Amino acid sequence: MAVTDRNERTVPRPVEPDLAAVRLWKDALDHLRVRINREGFDTWLSVTGVRSLSASAIELEVPNSFFADWITQHYLGEIRAVLRDLIGRDLAVSFRARDAADARALRRGRADIPNPPRSGVGRLRTRYTFDCFVVGESNRFACAAARSVAEHPGATYNPLFIYGGVGLGKTHLVHAIGNHALELRPELRVHYVPAETFFLELIRAIEKNTRLDFKSRYRTLDLLLMDDVHYLVGKERLQEEVFHIFNTLHDSGSQIVFTCDRPPREIPTLEERLASRLGSGLVVDIGPPDLEMRIAILKQKAAREEQELPHDVALYIASRVKSNIRELEGSLVRLLALSSLTDRPLSVELAEETLKDLLARVPSVTPDMVIEAAARAWGVTAADIRSNRRTQQLALARQVAMYLIRKNLGLSLKEIGLCFGGKDHTTVMHAVDKVERLRVEDEPFAARLRKLDSGISGGQAVS
Ligand code: ADP
Ligand code: MG
Repeated sequence: MAVTDRNERTVPRPVEPDLAAVRLWKDALDHLRVRINREGFDTWLSVTGVRSLSASAIELEVPNSFFADWITQHYLGEIRAVLRDLIGRDLAVSFRARDAADARALRRGRADIPNPPRSGVGRLRTRYTFDCFVVGESNRFACAAARSVAEHPGATYNPLFIYGGVGLGKTHLVHAIGNHALELRPELRVHYVPAETFFLELIRAIEKNTRLDFKSRYRTLDLLLMDDVHYLVGKERLQEEVFHIFNTLHDSGSQIVFTCDRPPREIPTLEERLASRLGSGLVVDIGPPDLEMRIAILKQKAAREEQELPHDVALYIASRVKSNIRELEGSLVRLLALSSLTDRPLSVELAEETLKDLLARVPSVTPDMVIEAAARAWGVTAADIRSNRRTQQLALARQVAMYLIRKNLGLSLKEIGLCFGGKDHTTVMHAVDKVERLRVEDEPFAARLRKLDSGISGGQAVS
């Protein structure tokens, strides 16, 4: 690996970097993350590692020589400065390509030379594939549509709009589309971006006057995967930008996939033209998994960890953790950890122990407790909140209570409506979105909300 800085000396190369080297580079990355722009960091530095450290030199590991060139040209000064701050002296910095570097990453790194951040590889989570996505009744249609899009991007369902609740596999599925599409056609320009990141990038581009670059980067993609577009709610400027990029991509036959926590027509304040555009392709939903599927997911996950999960244990967990696959996985991870730490076999008894805290936590906060707390914080009474009266202050207190119940208790919009004397689910949705918008835009309000929220989720309300 030829690229080095001027002061490079021969560095001893242990097989495993020692802990000090790993720690140092981790700290350095934390500092670099705030010193250079996010796009640059994500694309170039987040994929680096450390190979060795001596008194005078550090050798970093990068995917290929192109990365080494790019980092040397653009970030070497910052890297050296950060290392100097951390250890109080100058280190020579050199690079080495990863041995068995992922061949595809290598090819794509080269193919992307004119404008490398377009590459999708740096952003796609390679472990989220179709192979490890368990299919059941609740996601069969979504999964079939996703596969079809990965196989024929731009040709079948465009856009593909996938919606569903938290932790049900939307993010997994869009990464699987990207990974599979690249497997079939490595030359494709694929980009995964959460709507929030897109928003931050846009703001930065506006600040730095690089909006044209920003746009052209997005407009030349073959496959854009935009996650969590409910984030667009109430952000008109962002919606407009998404609308334009969307139109350009769509007109040029590029594929777009969106995920969201609700269908397009239920995104309030979404501009009419964008709403109809989002819904103009195929809209599919992912529902909560049934028992059989939850068991299958647990078993698959255990098998990937090379553990065999007895059926009664899988059944025990699956019948208690129902609505969220992320929590299901979390329970299994805790069980496996406990089993290996205490050297006990995987049994129903151990699962009971593992789940005890998790299950105990859920019922301890009730909607009534949240309503009481919100009433106190906003200087009204709980009865006022439950009534139909609509002074401005009362309406806001009510909306805050709805928001916090949604956030902390995870009830459905309809269930929340019932806690407030049978309000319609659209009223609740509007409340949740309004509070979210205020939280982002109005710092004093956000501070008040945080205080109330920590009283509820962190205080005596939760055991
Ligand atoms: P969402 O984006 O809908 O909130 P995620 O895609 O982040 O949910 O999924 C949460 C976790 O559950 C991830 O680790 C994901 O791999 C896993 N998961 C979700 N659905 C499935 C599935 N059908 N098969 C296997 N794992 C799944
Ligand atoms: Mg997600």
